[in-house]
Amino acid sequence: MRIRTESERRAVLTIKSEIVRSAGEYLRSKGFVEILPVLLSPVTDPLHHETYDGAVDFYGVPYQLMKSMIFHKQIALRTLPKIFCFAPNVRMEPAERASAGRYLAEFVQLDLEVRDASRDDIMAVGEGLVVAILSAVRESCAEELTVLEREIAVPSVPFERVSYADAAARFGEPFDDALSTTLVGPAWVVDFPRRIREFYDREDPERPEVLLDMDLMYPEGYGEALSGGEREYELARIHDRLDRDSIPKAKFERYLEEVERGVPRSAGFGIGIERLTRYIAGLDRIEEARLFPKTPGDTNAI
Ligand code: AMP
Ligand code: MG
Repeated sequence: MRIRTESERRAVLTIKSEIVRSAGEYLRSKGFVEILPVLLSPVTDPLHHETYDGAVDFYGVPYQLMKSMIFHKQIALRTLPKIFCFAPNVRMEPAERASAGRYLAEFVQLDLEVRDASRDDIMAVGEGLVVAILSAVRESCAEELTVLEREIAVPSVPFERVSYADAAARFGEPFDDALSTTLVGPAWVVDFPRRIREFYDREDPERPEVLLDMDLMYPEGYGEALSGGEREYELARIHDRLDRDSIPKAKFERYLEEVERGVPRSAGFGIGIERLTRYIAGLDRIEEARLFPKTPGDTNAI
């Protein structure tokens, strides 16, 4: 659906507000503590794809606008065992991405992390969270869904799982659109190959080159919902990953110092709030899922 009227826009934003409320309520009921976001840091998520760096001159030192809370989450777990955060991310994606309708240059991620958790543990959290949010929106936003002519089904758990290798054999690479279009409910993709992911996703000690990570895909062609997995937390293994991926270490010096001091074993994920809103509201484009959207490459925003 394309948003044309203020009442449609109001319905979308009301649904988004209920998404945020119900997600927080669900996570708190499971023992998570909300932390508030970091905006600037000397170190942030390298990401696997190209984005322009949003550097800020911080007393003469280049600090970056946050692309995700990944490293700060690991450090925060020293203090709190289960955390979540609604974190603004600035990712200046290449302008060609605008046409896909699912990228913003500024968006919000619900980022969470759990000390000593396995991938299976965190996938169960993801399933519970998505079901809780969809149920809450269906119950509290019936009027808004009617305005948007949208019906949403609450999926049953566990969600379907497919390995990266099986999906690639079936659809070729990349397969996001082809897979998402064929799904009838949300489904997991697990076991990504090392070569296409970030160095902090944990490599399976029993299956080198295969990561203990996952994405959740929405049905109906809405594409990727979240990414996450178990994390590397041992200094020697992180150095090994940086070496094998030929990643210059200077950029990650402050992070490596913190890992040397010790970060706990963990697993977690980040789910994009605008993408979730787009899916639930059935919107054509992600820009319609927030106020003041910044489309990649468009410098006319406010
Ligand atoms: P990532 O760890 O990079 O996969 O980011 C986590 C989640 O944030 C993704 O699964 C998306 O839901 C969301 N996300 C990532 N990049 C963007 C973007 N440029 N615009 C909107 N949402 C995004
Ligand atoms: Mg991802």
